[in-house]
Amino acid sequence: MSTPLRLLIIGAHPDDADYAAGGLASLYRAAGHVVGMVSLTNGDAGHHVKAGPTLAQRRWQEAQNSAAVIGASYQIFDFHDGELMPTLDARHQVVALIRNFKPDLVLTHRPNDYHPDHRYTSQLVQDAAYVVTVPFYVPSAPYLSRDPVIAYLPDFFQKPTVFEPTVAIDVGPVVDKIVAMLHCHTSQFYEWLPFNRGVADQVPAEDAHRRQWLKDWFIPKLRSQADHYRKLLIKLYGSERGAKIEFAEGFEGCEYGAPLDDEARRRLFPFVPFAL
Ligand SMILES: [Zn+2]
Repeated sequence: MSTPLRLLIIGAHPDDADYAAGGLASLYRAAGHVVGMVSLTNGDAGHHVKAGPTLAQRRWQEAQNSAAVIGASYQIFDFHDGELMPTLDARHQVVALIRNFKPDLVLTHRPNDYHPDHRYTSQLVQDAAYVVTVPFYVPSAPYLSRDPVIAYLPDFFQKPTVFEPTVAIDVGPVVDKIVAMLHCHTSQFYEWLPFNRGVADQVPAEDAHRRQWLKDWFIPKLRSQADHYRKLLIKLYGSERGAKIEFAEGFEGCEYGAPLDDEARRRLFPFVPFAL
């Protein structure tokens, strides 16, 4: 096999990367590529019963378990949950992160998003996009000779712009892998999020029932993404397969990294047939 591709997914919380791009991460790993998932905050506020260092430790372990499902890594930075700011210190850390990983493709949140940690994670990655190539910027981490491609994770926010994927992928074959990853985040998908949404009483107690409950809750998002990206899926996969794709993830090129042009799309998404 030729040199493995390197995918770095930089999220704000210890479940964002797998939640938004678990399908791409699974497909990359299945093809022998390298996947690093990152959370810039330690997740220490994401619970209604137990917060602080105990929760941060618990979420670190959940993230490791999730990464282990596909053989990826999950790095958790130590910024407090809900308190990430686009400071110089944080920018320096993100620059060093990207340089040390040497990614071909970096994924992160879009800059407009409901959660301030998501917004500032996006800001930090965008702020790092060019300076990763500047030798005397954070000289302690060896600079990159070329910018990686940077793209945004999917969301459904409408303002100021609707998410417009540059590439969309069929994640049907790896839906169970994604669910298996999310299943590791017990504190989130079976405790905090159901509590926050007022459905804590609906979470099944038994493990297999939980997994099915999580799948039933999660896959409408993937189905909705496939419906939203249908035109692009048909372009990329051809009219027959593209029309039938049930579950999809999409990624929108960011203008600040190397461009996600046709050559980059073919190189970075080798499992897409590009029927166009
Ligand atoms: Zn998040």
